[in-house]
Amino acid sequence: MKAIYPGSFDPVHNGHLDLIIRASDLFEHLTVAVYDEPNKNVLFSPSERVNLIVESIKPYKKNVDVVQFSGLAVEFAKSLGAKFILRGLRAGFDFELEFEMALMWKKLNKDVDVVCLMSSLEYQFVYSSRIKEVARLGGNITGLVPDNVIDAFKLKFK
Ligand code: ADP
Repeated sequence: MKAIYPGSFDPVHNGHLDLIIRASDLFEHLTVAVYDEPNKNVLFSPSERVNLIVESIKPYKKNVDVVQFSGLAVEFAKSLGAKFILRGLRAGFDFELEFEMALMWKKLNKDVDVVCLMSSLEYQFVYSSRIKEVARLGGNITGLVPDNVIDAFKLKFK
């Protein structure tokens, strides 16, 4: 069973990593799919976002790869022969958004199913947008992102 995990990952944080590690036990193969044109302002380029994930998953499972994609996630899943799309659910409003998106994906491709994993307790309130804001203002984001992401922020905001 193959799955893709699509998202903007701007940048990857420990909530994403926790999900990737847990899902790599669930699926034979997991492709982390970095959406290259999110309709929000991104700090890191698509290739920077891919590389940050590649570096941060190195110590973990070998059945995970990371690629950049554009267009519809369901089409990308189909092109890889993946039947499942992985998403994460944090406390609060994620459910509404993910439910709506899952229904749209089902409409676009009835062969694809969405699998949601609940965020672990310590990452319930970890958001890329909040992390970027705190990092820009010089706050301490240790424990929220992998070390290579801390270094990448230092370069961006030096
Ligand atoms: P963000 O919402 O942090 O900007 P993305 O758009 O890259 O992240 O999200 C990709 C997927 O990862 C979404 O399904 C999102 O709900 C999930 N996700 C994001 N942060 C977390 C977290 N802290 N714990 C679990 N899942 C998460």
